[in-house]
Amino acid sequence: MTKSEALLYRQNPGLPQPLHCGQRIREPRKTFVFFCCLSFFSKHYTNPGGSNLIPVTQNIMKRKLNLKKVKVSRQREIAPGVFVLSFPRPWDFTAGQVIGISGHETAEARLYSIASGELDDEVDILYNINPEGKLTPWMAQLNTADTIWVSEPFGSFTGSGEAGWWIASGTGIAPFSAMFRTGLTAGKKLLHGGRDLKSFYFSEMFGTELGENYVRCCSREQGQDIYHGRLTQYLTEHPDLSPSEKYYLCGSAEMVVDVRDILISRGIPFDHIISEIYF
Ligand SMILES: Cc1cc2nc3c(=O)[nH]c(=O)nc-3n(C[C@H](O)[C@H](O)[C@H](O)COP(=O)(O)OP(=O)(O)OC[C@H]3O[C@@H](n4cnc5c(N)ncnc54)[C@H](O)[C@@H]3O)c2cc1C
Repeated sequence: MTKSEALLYRQNPGLPQPLHCGQRIREPRKTFVFFCCLSFFSKHYTNPGGSNLIPVTQNIMKRKLNLKKVKVSRQREIAPGVFVLSFPRPWDFTAGQVIGISGHETAEARLYSIASGELDDEVDILYNINPEGKLTPWMAQLNTADTIWVSEPFGSFTGSGEAGWWIASGTGIAPFSAMFRTGLTAGKKLLHGGRDLKSFYFSEMFGTELGENYVRCCSREQGQDIYHGRLTQYLTEHPDLSPSEKYYLCGSAEMVVDVRDILISRGIPFDHIISEIYF
């Protein structure tokens, strides 16, 4: 591993590591996650034309997001340890995009999907506390009128009006909330996986409009109208996965990779699977 790759892994502990050329061939699942992450960074953190690994990783470390100060308008705890933080919308964005957030202009920003609609007056961010983390424990104690630093929106995990599947685990529901609140709901099926019954953030909003096309999969608890099991199990049992539809995946690397494998085994073309990995 080169020095710059080592630094990349230190900055992004969720990345599978280490990845050597031989390993990439033997472990296609890890390669998929790696290239999802790499393609995200190469699209959004590098200069156009920077195409091979070393310039990309160097650029990730060199390029800092341009952060501007905003005031928190409110913060709500919607489930134990899970918050929605809001601030007045300072820019236009496309549903599905992310922003960088930091506690200070010069501190390294973390990325968050916007969870509110394109025309909403406020930007909502859905996040959970990572007790060992640097930003989220601090962010969770913010109150109205406190200051955070945010970047402009960016990212190409954006929604469309075509029929398709939204598949999320945990806080990976955030970009689909933005797409939903922007009105991109026609022909959409939403599959949300969570460990317990409190994990289905915004479920009232989704349930009211999507009806049977909103499926919650709960792995550790049972509840009314909730599929008991992981969302991967639900997909495996689901007979009707159309190869002509698009499948949008957002959440942990594990979920994204498992779902991608199932979809491919069911004949869904690779380019109909669009993913955003939270790491
Ligand atoms: C594209 C994208 C979109 C995202 N959107 C969302 C979203 O909408 N909502 C959401 O909740 N999250 C989202 N995330 C995840 C988010 O960016 C943060 O990673 C998460 O909130 C944790 O931030 P933190 O500062 O609290 O933790 P961090 O400080 O980043 O720590 C994360 C973990 O790494 C460990 N760690 C930290 N530093 C080191 C180190 N030096 N050595 C070893 N281990 C270390 C910590 O122990 C901790 O377990 C997204 C990520 C990506 C890539």
